[in-house]
Amino acid sequence: MTRKFNFCAGPAALPTAVLERARAEMLDYQGRGLSVMEMSHRSDEFVAIAEKAEADLRELLEIPSNYRVLFMQGGASTQFAGVPLNLLGAGGSANYLYTGIWGKKAIKEAEHLAVGSHVAASSESNGLIAVPRQNAIQLSGDVGYLHYTANETIGGLEFDYIPEVAADGVPLVCDMSSSILSGPLDVSRFGVIYAGAQKNIGPAGLTLVIVREDLLDRARKDCPTMLNWKTAAEANSMFNTPPTYAWYLSGLVFEWLKDEVGGLAAMNAINDRKAQALYAAIDGSDFYSNPIVTENRSRMNVPFVLADDRLDKTFLAESEAAGLLNLAGHRSVGGMRASLYNAVPEAAVTALVDFMGDFARRHG
Ligand code: PMP
Repeated sequence: MTRKFNFCAGPAALPTAVLERARAEMLDYQGRGLSVMEMSHRSDEFVAIAEKAEADLRELLEIPSNYRVLFMQGGASTQFAGVPLNLLGAGGSANYLYTGIWGKKAIKEAEHLAVGSHVAASSESNGLIAVPRQNAIQLSGDVGYLHYTANETIGGLEFDYIPEVAADGVPLVCDMSSSILSGPLDVSRFGVIYAGAQKNIGPAGLTLVIVREDLLDRARKDCPTMLNWKTAAEANSMFNTPPTYAWYLSGLVFEWLKDEVGGLAAMNAINDRKAQALYAAIDGSDFYSNPIVTENRSRMNVPFVLADDRLDKTFLAESEAAGLLNLAGHRSVGGMRASLYNAVPEAAVTALVDFMGDFARRHG
């Protein structure tokens, strides 16, 4: 078996140790004589798996006790609608910071739901290469929440600070799909955090929502049951059949983060080293470039372009032949992108940097 280095933006690499454990437990989960996929979600075995996953996640992120953790479906994209539907029952305007393609989709969805939406600050004028600073944020008078995207996965633009919502009681809502668990986090600064699982959490099919309890009473009357956070919280995320296997695998990832990596501070240091090594290689050459201002360069998604885009196809073919998979940029922007999520080892970055140096020497 050869596992290649996988730089996919999502569904992304999973830790090999997690896949090995899942393989070992696949046919016969801990002597029960069946796989996790074949268990009732209401069985004692599965409820124990589900509770352990939540407890480990709470420990990793130090989630305060007045927050609920919901294991939902539909991807982060479904929460683009879930956020206004759950938070604007008493009216108010949806406020957004616009820093890239995913934030734009969230804004569009709020507009689709006929919610008054307001862009409180935007990176459009700088060409999406820097996030707006705190003093540029101008909330609307009737603000119901402020939403932002912590890390824009396509542009490779990441917030280096947590925005403040000066207005009392107004929740800060964050799409953390591509940066959650990349390092320690002060959850208490947020009203709601949500993330699709398929990057730093586990396989696709699961969506995490972390919501402060006092916000569970703000849903619009027309909020569909399956999108209603309070319904999910009251049913311990089992109002209907949850994505059980994805929940189980995510639990294995949380265990791996705790027991093998040593927690989020240790993960943070590794992620710093990986990103620094790749950006240094890009900055140290005339052949590669990345336009993002230093303080907002994403640690998880590193887009870069070659000086001559006629070499793009060759770069992708040669890198794949060298065992470096999925380096193509998002189809909407082209170029290259290396995603360096938690499960991508430092050895992968070393191999990529070596390959890039060699490619530039041969083709530069
Ligand atoms: N937000 C961000 C920041 C993302 O990176 C993605 C997926 N790449 C999404 C939202 C959409 O996630 P999903 O596919 O789970 O709906």
